[in-house]
Amino acid sequence: MIAILLEGSLFVGSIAAIAALVFYITRGSTSLGLRAQQNKNREAIEREAELVCPIHGAHTEAELVRLESGERICPECFRDAMKGIV
Ligand SMILES: [Zn+2]
Repeated sequence: MIAILLEGSLFVGSIAAIAALVFYITRGSTSLGLRAQQNKNREAIEREAELVCPIHGAHTEAELVRLESGERICPECFRDAMKGIV
């Protein structure tokens, strides 16, 4: 019984190791991996750009205000909008 359980767990472990190896090789040395890295770079830059208000400058992600529509806005712009200044 123990031998069957051991054999099963080793089989699952070997499949997981092969899948991890294929994933690592795909990410590291193919055009698919390069494309994924470039997408990741674009998303990081877009995320950073969303944190910078053109009027009030940079904010941290925790400082931003989420509107009911799901958009995020800088707190100063939100205060101005609430006061009706904008
Ligand atoms: Zn602002």
